[in-house]
Amino acid sequence: MAHVTQNERRAFEIEQAAWNALNEIGATDEVDFPLSLTKLAARWDIPVQEVQFRDPRISGIISRNNGGAVILVNERDTTVRKRFTIAHELGHYVLHWSRSTDGPPDDRVDTERILFGASLLSKEDREANRFASALLIPAPILSKMLEHGGNRMTDLLGAFGVSEEVLRIRIRMIRRRPWLLHEVKTATQYPLDAR
Ligand SMILES: [Zn+2]
Repeated sequence: MAHVTQNERRAFEIEQAAWNALNEIGATDEVDFPLSLTKLAARWDIPVQEVQFRDPRISGIISRNNGGAVILVNERDTTVRKRFTIAHELGHYVLHWSRSTDGPPDDRVDTERILFGASLLSKEDREANRFASALLIPAPILSKMLEHGGNRMTDLLGAFGVSEEVLRIRIRMIRRRPWLLHEVKTATQYPLDAR
């Protein structure tokens, strides 16, 4: 790839990791969206539980569970919020999770501020957000829908099961990186050996 900066390279890796995840469950066509996050989590043996956190600001947690992982999500959040939270936690799993069973605890706790506040995020949380957007709104699927004329905001929101905020951020991101639309689906190699 001719794109130079480390940041762009990482952006591509994350896009590709999300697209590979979708390929694992055969979710590569418009009809497979809104994406079934439970299907993807099940594929990776990650139970997803809706719970009432003692701290209501918490949106989601990914935590160790019998050598694997479990995702907890705030039952009080709206459906689209929960979907983004789960996708974000799956991003931590794919991108940041240490596979060694005897390592330190690898839990991540995400609050509303982390998921939706823009500026003060850690690198890992920014990456998990990128993965979440790429998973919920994959560039190849979005580009197909736009080709077919399905470009009304309300249609796209329903088609992807996301909030307007997430969709707008995603569209802006793709406009800045038009190469996403054609390069992601043609690359065949898994760029991350995380899994
Ligand atoms: Zn996070």
